Amino acid sequence: MLTLWPHQQSGADDIRRAFYAGYRRVLYTLPTGGGKTILFSYIATQAAAKGNRVLICVHRRELVRQTVESIRQFGMEPGVIAAGWDGESNARSMVQVASIDTLRTRLQYYPAWRYQILVIDEAHHATAATWEAIISHFDIPTIGVTATPCRLTGKGLGEIWETLIQGPAYSELRCLGCLVDCDLYTIGGDQADGVAISRGDFKRRELESALDRSAVVGDAIDHYREHADGEPAIAFCVSRHHAQKVAEMFSGAGYQSFAVDGATEKAIRDDLIGGLARGNVQVLTSCDLISEGLDVPAARVGIMLRPTQSTALWIQQAGRLLRVAPGKDKAIILDHAGNTYRHGFPDADREWTLERGLEESETRAESITMCKSCFAAFRPGPRVCPSCGAEKVAEPRTPDKVKGRLTKAEREEIERAREEEARRKRREVGRARSYEELLAIEKERGYKPGWACHRWKARERKAG
Ligand SMILES: [Zn+2]
Repeated sequence: MLTLWPHQQSGADDIRRAFYAGYRRVLYTLPTGGGKTILFSYIATQAAAKGNRVLICVHRRELVRQTVESIRQFGMEPGVIAAGWDGESNARSMVQVASIDTLRTRLQYYPAWRYQILVIDEAHHATAATWEAIISHFDIPTIGVTATPCRLTGKGLGEIWETLIQGPAYSELRCLGCLVDCDLYTIGGDQADGVAISRGDFKRRELESALDRSAVVGDAIDHYREHADGEPAIAFCVSRHHAQKVAEMFSGAGYQSFAVDGATEKAIRDDLIGGLARGNVQVLTSCDLISEGLDVPAARVGIMLRPTQSTALWIQQAGRLLRVAPGKDKAIILDHAGNTYRHGFPDADREWTLERGLEESETRAESITMCKSCFAAFRPGPRVCPSCGAEKVAEPRTPDKVKGRLTKAEREEIERAREEEARRKRREVGRARSYEELLAIEKERGYKPGWACHRWKARERKAG
């Protein structure tokens, strides 16, 4: 059986105490790589040993297996509620791991009385209607875990959760050796300059065309070669098309480079991720898949090609690189997207609140000094660059988010625009009269292949 780190043990104790104190919805936050899957697996198996049935919800099918493996480390075989798992699911197990999409469609088969504890992984998604439906369907003691307890706009999660427990900070985890340090280079100007903002982040279409210039990727290849030649890398891209293109350009430069996304066959994807660790794949490019939750500990280099307004997304993406792995002493982040200047160091210690999310912490973001010769970004202090020793360093700069914090009215405007956009999208789907029209929507919005088919069949069923 696995031994917990001290911070995981005290996290489990803190969560237990919160339930004793009468809270029913407890949100726990700790940085990516801090071992939250192990933490809630421990809580779940402990609770199960005392006769409680535990339901763990994860937001992507890829995370199901990761969670199952974590539970097994505590000597238990969990059941699985996820499409495609029916054959090997273990329905009698006291611990069930569910993919949110599957659970939602089968909710009527899982009555609330059957479970005593609900765990929500990546709980910052829990303001979405699906999650809300699930949390209120069960209405049992619920634990949420996330590295970024806020919405895309930075707003808090107080509508869902009753209390927030802060786990250890980045600095603490680095000292413990749970996370690696990172060297950060900020290269190139702001590619997103002038790109319009919608629903709290840059418009994808516009970003895509702004970034669809070979110069940016060419730059990325040069800097990869200079700072991390051939080391296992993940490139974070704007869209699937962009990810494909970046992979092609890296391949053209002589690296083994491939794009992965939700539609990539699992066996192929696992093979590619394994290839990173084995050294026969150098650069994996991805749009959304690797941003959250999916473990790729062997990756040592982050090639950041997606400008974002969301501090949470920046933290989630860069956090993928900070996990420890054999032979990995530090991570290298090559920021070609201007995100460091927007949000500060991705591994800065931040304070969160349920009511205000990140707002509070933004005022604490550290200034950044940049080396004019090698583009290393570091915390103000040293007169010479700690990376290359050059004496030319720029004046410390404060991240933009601190300078230009959104006013309440602006935030409300963004929220309103998001809701309006969501309504518009639903209306559009409702108006589609044929399978072909649904298919066009699937393509346009970059939904997973099969979405239109699923929608169309559901409609036919309804029509009887
Ligand atoms: Zn330097």
